[in-house]
Amino acid sequence: MNNHPHKHDHHKMMLDDFKKRLWISLTLTVPILILSPTIQGLLGVSLTFRYDNYISFLISSVIFFYCGYPFLKGFKEELKERKPGMMVLIAVAITVAYAYSTAVVFGLEGMTFFWELATLIDVMLAGHWIEMRSIMGASKALEKLVELLPNTAHLKGDKGIRDIEISELKKGDIILIKPGEKIPSDGVIVEGEGHVDESMLTGESKPVKKKAGDTLVGGSINGNAAFDLRVERTGEDSYLAKVIKLVKEAQEQKSRTQNLADKAAFGLTLIGISVGVFTFASWMILKGDLSFAIERMATVMVITCPHALGLAIPLVVAISTSLSAKNGLLIRNRTAFENARKITTIVFDKTGTLTEGKFGVSFVQILYKNIDEKYLMKISASLESSSEHPIAKAITDRAKEMNIELIEVKDFKNMRGEGIAGIIDGKNIRVVSPGYLERNNIIFPKTNSVGTTVYILEDSKLLGSISLNDKIRKQSKNAIDTLHKMNIKCWMLTGDNEETAKEVSNELGLDGYFSQVLPHQKQQKIKELQKNNEFVAMTGDGVNDAPALAESDIGIAIGSGTDVAAETADIVLVNSDPDDIVTLIEFGKATHNKMLQNLFWATGYNVIAIPLAAGILYNQGILISPAVGAALMSLSTVIVAINAKLLQIKK
Ligand code: ADP
Ligand code: MG
Repeated sequence: MNNHPHKHDHHKMMLDDFKKRLWISLTLTVPILILSPTIQGLLGVSLTFRYDNYISFLISSVIFFYCGYPFLKGFKEELKERKPGMMVLIAVAITVAYAYSTAVVFGLEGMTFFWELATLIDVMLAGHWIEMRSIMGASKALEKLVELLPNTAHLKGDKGIRDIEISELKKGDIILIKPGEKIPSDGVIVEGEGHVDESMLTGESKPVKKKAGDTLVGGSINGNAAFDLRVERTGEDSYLAKVIKLVKEAQEQKSRTQNLADKAAFGLTLIGISVGVFTFASWMILKGDLSFAIERMATVMVITCPHALGLAIPLVVAISTSLSAKNGLLIRNRTAFENARKITTIVFDKTGTLTEGKFGVSFVQILYKNIDEKYLMKISASLESSSEHPIAKAITDRAKEMNIELIEVKDFKNMRGEGIAGIIDGKNIRVVSPGYLERNNIIFPKTNSVGTTVYILEDSKLLGSISLNDKIRKQSKNAIDTLHKMNIKCWMLTGDNEETAKEVSNELGLDGYFSQVLPHQKQQKIKELQKNNEFVAMTGDGVNDAPALAESDIGIAIGSGTDVAAETADIVLVNSDPDDIVTLIEFGKATHNKMLQNLFWATGYNVIAIPLAAGILYNQGILISPAVGAALMSLSTVIVAINAKLLQIKK
């Protein structure tokens, strides 16, 4: 986060530098135009005096060496890196023009083209200046995210409240957030109730209601209430810092489309050099006019310059990633994101993904003599207190309500997708799914309560069961309907029991489901779908979804889920809203289309422009001057920049 302002300063300096050179170049172009015999001829005036040639030469030298310096420097760098690119083209074109004209001034037979040289450098500088401005504009969105954090926080201590730098904040500190202030760090509300605006982080424009126990994210804006917040994460660990890091990484990543653009740019450079040389040779043979041949060669090289190509994709990437971040889509893998348009099947995890993953205990059943509900809750809650699963929260919350004191657990073990185990008082306690019991041939009575049921085992004795219910997310139905309209099949994979799976599947109108699957089976199902030529996206939230998220063509993690899921996924849905999958697919498509359009605008004009520049229609009186060539090339840069800016996200 810290080096960002420096990078920004650097860009700003470069931008100012270009601007200065551009103004000087434009100013010096005026006398050159006035002194040019060609321009005078066009205007029907004549202004000549002794040594006017030398004056043009002197002014042009300033333009060439000072204003053309960025290109000459770029030429050296590209050669040093053995990556000849557009700087080489520009540098060769202007150097040939300058050297030849200079030779004419000092006696060589022919015509100078100082004015062509000057206008060419003008247009080139303007083009680069526009390019830098657009790139800076795109990264501004990111800088806005950084600016979200305030500098100080109000720390509550024994001696009252004092303001400290946010870099001094520590985990566990209690800070006061006053109405209207920005939240300085991530934390949990200890006291207070009110609305908070999280729109900069999630794109959700409505303020979100928050009360004691809820989490606040650093960078969001407090409404009218005051909160006491217990600091959880600061600095580099904070959510905002992570988002910024992700966005930066995504912007630096090269997707396949970007690589295509790079290859095209290299190809164009080769074409520029070879067609340029060929043009020169041809005109020397056909016409024998050195100055004409040089002018044609320079024009071809300039016009072929893959300038817009250097901008075509990066600009779209910059705009697309920051737009997505602001709308609650965190893109970790650009290629996957751009592939969203290919999805034919989406597989959903149930708990926490299609459902809210906020369980409540609905029913407790005793299945062994001499134990009571309190004991059953005590051992299960003690064990669950080490688990991250939504079921765990429900059971421990219930135990708290019943004022049950938890006891020590040894050797806690997570059996992914099946349940948990540990040693309590020397006994082996397990809280597991019905699927686990079936697989281990343990006989158990089915409960008739709908929803998720977990069973509690003490050594080999089945003590009882706890039934829990969860709610389907209200956006799930709409998301599935929209995906169906887009001809995408929707499946569900869950570790939960058959009855619950069936109920959820029917309610949402899914194309099918698999219940009681283990993590590696989830992964296996994805593979099977892929074998049937499906392009599969997986959406999940849990530790048990990670293998499937990794296996799928596009892994989508639910923001409220576990860190493991988010780390494995290609894209994270910050708002945990299934509807965002639709947004994601549409925006992925839009981004990809923009890239293709930009590739076209950056290269397509060459098909017509190069032959014209080479002088194919010379006999028909159609010829492009170097400056017009440069203007055409810059025009395509401008089109590409504007086209990228038009990218929008639909919600
Ligand atoms: P889903 O695939 O729908 O997200 P999970 O794979 O997370 O569901 O869980 C599958 C099943 O495993 C749960 O329905 C439950 O029976 C059992 N299970 C998983 N974790 C726990 C836990 N911490 N405590 C009790 N049971 C659990
Ligand atoms: Mg889950």
